[in-house]
Amino acid sequence: MRLPSLAGDPAGIDEDEVVRMLRYAIDHGVNYLDLGYPCDMEWHERLARLLGRALKDGYRQKVKIAANLPSFLIDSPADFDRYLDDRLKWLQTGCIDFFLFGGLDRETWPRLQEIDVLSRAEAAMADGRIDKVGFGFHDYFQTLREILDAYDNWALCQLQYSYMDIDHHPGVGGIRYAASEGLAVVVTESLKGGRLTRKPPESVAVIWTDAPKNRPLADWGLRWVWNHPEVATVVSDMSTLEQVAANVALADAVEPDSLTVPEEVVIGRVRDAYRKLRPVPCTACRGCMPCPLGIDVPRIFELYNDAVMYDDVETARSLYRIERHDIDSCNECGACVAACGLKIPITDRLKEACKLLAGWK
Ligand code: SF4
Ligand code: SF4
Repeated sequence: MRLPSLAGDPAGIDEDEVVRMLRYAIDHGVNYLDLGYPCDMEWHERLARLLGRALKDGYRQKVKIAANLPSFLIDSPADFDRYLDDRLKWLQTGCIDFFLFGGLDRETWPRLQEIDVLSRAEAAMADGRIDKVGFGFHDYFQTLREILDAYDNWALCQLQYSYMDIDHHPGVGGIRYAASEGLAVVVTESLKGGRLTRKPPESVAVIWTDAPKNRPLADWGLRWVWNHPEVATVVSDMSTLEQVAANVALADAVEPDSLTVPEEVVIGRVRDAYRKLRPVPCTACRGCMPCPLGIDVPRIFELYNDAVMYDDVETARSLYRIERHDIDSCNECGACVAACGLKIPITDRLKEACKLLAGWK
């Protein structure tokens, strides 16, 4: 369970209700709480203090807490200690069970290695401020392998995974590899930030109608992830006590390897139906990379495809903005077009993507 994502005005949240939700979850078996990735520091601090309050009265002893270090903000070993000590103070605890290097990928990992923050993590484990270290990851299988192979003491990795992510970022191969290396695999975004629970497009809706069981869409999505024996736990944002109650009841009822073949077939058909809606048939193979001007073609196509597939332009636009893509700098050199095995007319499709994501005319 991730600390509730409380949409709207942070000042307007009902903190007593959040404490009730957290304690209900713990009373019903939730034993892992993830503070989440710190996008807004002020808000993050408030959530951490709230979690600390909820874990008083003996609740701290019943759960493991995970906290994320924002890797892209770490410039020195001292930053590591400052971020850790702040969280210990806010959470009012002497030890964080799992301290994660958040957002590791091919760019952040070499930088963290250079700064040698792992030696700071080792020191924090030795003095008891951390019990174990892990990392959050969003990149391709090869990078995951490099990170796992570089350090023997990883305890946990957190990956985005849903029935739409079976073969990328880093897909089922990454989940299996991490588990085979002895890491606890924690899954996030199992419902793709809620996009898999919205009203589906017609071509998908008819498949759900024919499904062997009539279930809520969230139920299908979570069952599919929990069906993997390699997955240790799934964290999910919840905003109401009803959602917490529904999710803990479902978690109690589902076992790994319990989906039937007809159920797997239905989910496979749903995946195919969504994929048919993609405007660009990019497989994210990254054969066209690197672009000499640093344009991340596969990622831009992914945002474009997701916006259309899930009819959710708003999320795609904000990610495009946050990730600071810059298609304006493309000089149409054609290097990516020549490298694409699928012969996608990349420069033309990038212009289409930008019309949608950046509001180009
Ligand atoms: S055409 Fe544009 S996106 Fe493709 S490699 Fe050249 S600069 Fe990069
Ligand atoms: S080479 Fe083609 S299919 Fe592969 S990531 Fe680039 S655009 Fe996508």
